[in-house]
Amino acid sequence: MNPYDAADPFIRNEREATIAARADRLGAIFAERAPKHDLEGSFPYENFEDLKESGYLKLTVPQFHGGEEASVYEMVLSQERLARGDGSTALAVGWHIGQILQLRTSGAWPTPLFERLCKDVVAEGIVINELASEPATGSPSRGGRPETTAVRAEGGWRITGRKTFSTLSPILKQFVVTAGIADSEKVGAFLVHSGPGVKVEETWNTMGMRATGSHDVILDDVFVPDDEVIRGVDDEKPMNPVPTEGILLHIPACYMGIAYAARHYAIDFARHHQPNSLQVPIAELPNIKRQIAEIEVDLITARSYLYQVADRWDQAPEQRSLLKPELGLAKYIVTNAALRIVDRAMRIVGGLSLSRALPLERMYRDVRAGLHNPPMDDIVLMNLADRAIRESEETRTSLGNQH
Ligand SMILES: Cc1cc2nc3c(=O)[nH]c(=O)nc-3n(C[C@H](O)[C@H](O)[C@H](O)COP(=O)(O)OP(=O)(O)OC[C@H]3O[C@@H](n4cnc5c(N)ncnc54)[C@H](O)[C@@H]3O)c2cc1C
Repeated sequence: MNPYDAADPFIRNEREATIAARADRLGAIFAERAPKHDLEGSFPYENFEDLKESGYLKLTVPQFHGGEEASVYEMVLSQERLARGDGSTALAVGWHIGQILQLRTSGAWPTPLFERLCKDVVAEGIVINELASEPATGSPSRGGRPETTAVRAEGGWRITGRKTFSTLSPILKQFVVTAGIADSEKVGAFLVHSGPGVKVEETWNTMGMRATGSHDVILDDVFVPDDEVIRGVDDEKPMNPVPTEGILLHIPACYMGIAYAARHYAIDFARHHQPNSLQVPIAELPNIKRQIAEIEVDLITARSYLYQVADRWDQAPEQRSLLKPELGLAKYIVTNAALRIVDRAMRIVGGLSLSRALPLERMYRDVRAGLHNPPMDDIVLMNLADRAIRESEETRTSLGNQH
């Protein structure tokens, strides 16, 4: 039996148990607040105060800079637990802790900037995010050139443009924006501070993930000094960039957590709901048991794959460049399983599941957003197919042509 958490085989030691317990505690508080923020589409400022107080915001900051230096596995564990309480808050803080873990792994930021960021996170609880999406580019993962433009100026750059889907925008004091370099093919990334020339336009009014504050951010001739340029301006692309895709596992972790909460709600409901046509609660009915079993098939399969890939990422840094198809597959399996799990949970609960008094309809709307976070399903499938075809070609070469 697992001595750390009998119900969760993925908690393997004392440190993971502590990380999970904190996320559980915060998730329970956020679950109470989630209906109001979802209804109003308001940003959960008080959740971020709690995240700050609890030390959650420094989860992935290096220990050297006063953080907890969580691995990808630990981040996934923590994020999944948090999302059981509130998907919006988990997704939003996921960008922050994911970005810091990415910077820790890649060393992509100039050292003084990264040190200052860590200090600000640890001492003041600031959050960070990268704003890359735009109306014309759609998902930045497709490689479109940003219409936001950076123009050379004395001692730095002047940036103008509009970013969409800017999660955390109500509390971002600094953030990274991507911008096309004027009169050049290059695309750079710049650290921008909120202040003159930066405006948040409250455009985020969506069916799901309504409390992520993912509004538009408008930049009007904002000055960025040379020493706050992040990448892409002078330097050529590094020949062998450090792989960082594992960090994106915070995304499936979030949707797994939402699905877990829906499953928990539905099973609990089934154990207690006993219409007067029955002598037993509906959990005893074969039809309901079958639906619960189908949820379990998806949940166990998806969690197992998610945690296995996270662990592989942590354990074998030298193989990370080969893991991209698996990482994408984890996102694909989890997101699609989560959609099915929430759907089945609602079928178990029945017509009541449509009620705004219950959390299921919010989970149903929130989990839908997973399809539109990277990597998108079609890219994942394409990567898997390409690799399979490549491997077939290599096998044919080594075994000889059989056709
Ligand atoms: C809750 C939430 C939070 C987010 N937070 C952030 C954030 O903090 N920062 C940020 O930068 N972004 C964020 N995003 C934006 C996200 O990363 C995507 O940019 C956004 O969802 C748009 O992606 P899309 O696939 O719908 O758009 P598009 O890329 O415009 O795609 C629209 C449709 O066209 C197809 N399509 C488009 N281009 C191609 C192509 N080249 N090849 C094949 N098919 C194509 C797609 O498959 C899709 O069907 C967030 C999104 C969500 C939902």
